[in-house]
Parts: sequence; C-alpha cells; structure tokens
Amino acid sequence: MEHNDMIKQTLIDSKAIAKRIKELGKLITNDYKGKDLLVIGVLKGAWVYLADLLREVDVNAEVDFMSVSSYGSGTSTSGSITIVKDLSVSVEGRDVLIVEDIVDSGLTLSHLKDLLYSRNAKSVEVSTLLSKPSRRRVDVEVKYIGFEIPDEFVIGYGLDFDEKYRALRDVCVLKEEAYQK
Ligand code: 5GP
Repeated sequence: MEHNDMIKQTLIDSKAIAKRIKELGKLITNDYKGKDLLVIGVLKGAWVYLADLLREVDVNAEVDFMSVSSYGSGTSTSGSITIVKDLSVSVEGRDVLIVEDIVDSGLTLSHLKDLLYSRNAKSVEVSTLLSKPSRRRVDVEVKYIGFEIPDEFVIGYGLDFDEKYRALRDVCVLKEEAYQK
C-alpha cells in the first residue's frame, strides 16, 4: 500500500484495537441495557471506530452523526464550537453516547457535551478510541477510553493527516517528512 512508505511506527495494531473494543463493548452493553441510547459519531475521524464499537454493543441504539470544528468555516456557531453538520434527531430526554476518535486538549468535547446538555439530553457520556492525557487543557470526563497514548500525531483507523491515511488498519505515527510535503 502506498500509505506505508510514510509510516514511522505502528503504535497500536488492529488486533489490539479489536480486543480493546470487545472489552469496551461489554462495558457499554452493561451500562445501557434497556435504555434509549443515542450514539453520536463525531465526523470525520470516528466513523471507523464507531462501526467496530457498535457491533460489539448489544443494545438497540440509534446512530447519528455530527461534524464540529473549533476553527474551520462552518454554518452555525454554538459557544466555542462551529457546527459543520448538525444532528438530524433530538437529544431531549435521551441517553447519549458521543463516539470520538481522539481526545487531545478536550476542548471540542467539552463544548460538545455542554451543547448536548443545553439541548436537554438526559445523560451524555463519551467513548474515545484514543486519549492524550498530557495534552488536556480542560477537565472533561471520558468514561470509555480505548488507549491512552503519548503526545504524538497519529493517523490510521479513521484518523487522517491532510485527509489521507484514514483507511489504515492500525494506529500509526507518521514520518516527519510526510508533514513537509
Ligand atoms: P481537542 O479539542 O481534544 O484538542 O481536539 C480533538 C480533535 O483534534 C480530534 O477530533 C482530531 O480531529 C484532532 N486531533 C488531535 N490529535 C490528533 C492526532 O494525533 N491525529 C489526528 N489525526 N488528529 C488529531
């Protein structure tokens, strides 16, 4: 695959990801059995993780997607995030699980949680595949974390660099030269 030329290191391979997702799926199944679960995938990075996670969760969940940005040119702003694509369902009175690819500073997630509570969600919890605790700037609770990773820019398993590498099966670190292109 032409992708591979630019990979410095595999940080988490697909087997380890699959094993951890099974564990998280069991926890989420236990916590949400019998509840009206709405799973919100945060685009674009979370779609691969969401697809694999949800197939390990034995709960009838509705799925919707949102795209938010802290900086880009979106269509409507709410607090400090810009909503690029909003939900198509109401969160009012519902148990919501946000699914993220990675939590870095935590700012995006913190604003997103506030937004969903302001829309009267009953509960809002978060599952992220990856977390970089050393980069956190706000204290935001993330209940279901796949892996804590060091402060390195990662790609693969849904995560991109310049819209590339999302389809890699493993979470990888890019070679420095990839950023210089
Ligand atoms: P936060 O608001 O937590 O700082 O930002 C989270 C967002 O930053 C993620 O959803 C992702 O889009 C981006 N991000 C943070 N760290 C990385 C990384 O190592 N790799 C990639 N591809 N995106 C990242």
